Amino acid sequence: MIVRHSRGEYPIDFRSVQSIWAGLKPLDPIVTDQNVARHYAEALSSFERVFVLPAGERTKNLTQFGRILGWLAGVGAKRSTRVVALGGGVIGDLVGFAAASYMRGVPFLQIPTTLLAMVDSSVGGKVGIDLPAGKNLAGAFHAPSEVWIAPDFLNTLPARQHRNGAAEVWKAGYIHRPELLDALRKNPVRPRHPDLRWIIEASVDMKRQVVEADEFETNGLRATLNFGHTVGHAIERQLSYRRLLHGEAIAVGMVCEAKIGERLGVTPAGTADQIAADMAQQGLPTEIPLGLDRRELVTTMAGDKKATDSGLALSLLTGWGTCKLITGIDPAEVVSILISE
Ligand code: ADP
Ligand code: ZN
Repeated sequence: MIVRHSRGEYPIDFRSVQSIWAGLKPLDPIVTDQNVARHYAEALSSFERVFVLPAGERTKNLTQFGRILGWLAGVGAKRSTRVVALGGGVIGDLVGFAAASYMRGVPFLQIPTTLLAMVDSSVGGKVGIDLPAGKNLAGAFHAPSEVWIAPDFLNTLPARQHRNGAAEVWKAGYIHRPELLDALRKNPVRPRHPDLRWIIEASVDMKRQVVEADEFETNGLRATLNFGHTVGHAIERQLSYRRLLHGEAIAVGMVCEAKIGERLGVTPAGTADQIAADMAQQGLPTEIPLGLDRRELVTTMAGDKKATDSGLALSLLTGWGTCKLITGIDPAEVVSILISE
């Protein structure tokens, strides 16, 4: 698969884990996290330049960003050196941003090892870190020079992390790829799923098509990728990014946004119930966590970068596999919909 963007293009290759190790050079600088380093210790021992960071979202900070830059300089990385990001979304974002900054930009090879990172961060070119003031507050657009996806990496991924990525796969189905829904309803995402490669390819290809058609977020198409995310992000923020993983929050968000769509007459009746059944079957949550105030959630949604003065903007389903961006939604109406569930 080839991803085209304004400054060029890059391939997304599907490979085996074995051929990933075989494709790396002994002196490639590789940045990874402790969990990945532990699971793949033997293979990594044949590379000389491996930098291992602590695992988890808190690693995506300025300190670790600075450490990577210092390490790259220390190993003598040049303008043409390819930096390898081996890990989940945290490593991809952080190392991608370091690659964007080191010597004003060096190539980076992205090797996502979580389902979420495979389907979500391999297209779009967004890299960055969190600041004390908020998530992803510093960043850049820096497309990888190549992405290598080995679904076999998911054999070591914990089940909860599979479900986390599964939410984005279902989303891909809901908004633009109904064939994914048929497959997932028969056989939800799980470790060693027989169709995992096809599921990943279909999800990545959906995002590729949307991002290529709206690279700079000018025609509303890219905003459709946000289905479930306006409510989901607000839930994550209200929980200070604890308790729920991203995919879990957007699972709840998709159910809520389907309800909102139904009440606004945009989404066919029964959609929210079916999505709730899908999420439950996938082992994902479907309800706003206890203790979260609906009013405050909507206030947080109104602070979303896609909202305008005239109201909230939501990507709403118009059927299975179709959606559109609806703007100017009255926050008070959303509060009443969320309260009345
Ligand atoms: P994301 O969910 O955004 O991809 P992370 O980069 O934090 O987020 O990855 C989620 C967790 O999974 C981290 O604890 C990471 O160390 C771990 N992890 C990543 N890849 C693998 C893998 N292939 N096997 C086991 N654990 C992994
Ligand atoms: Zn997401």
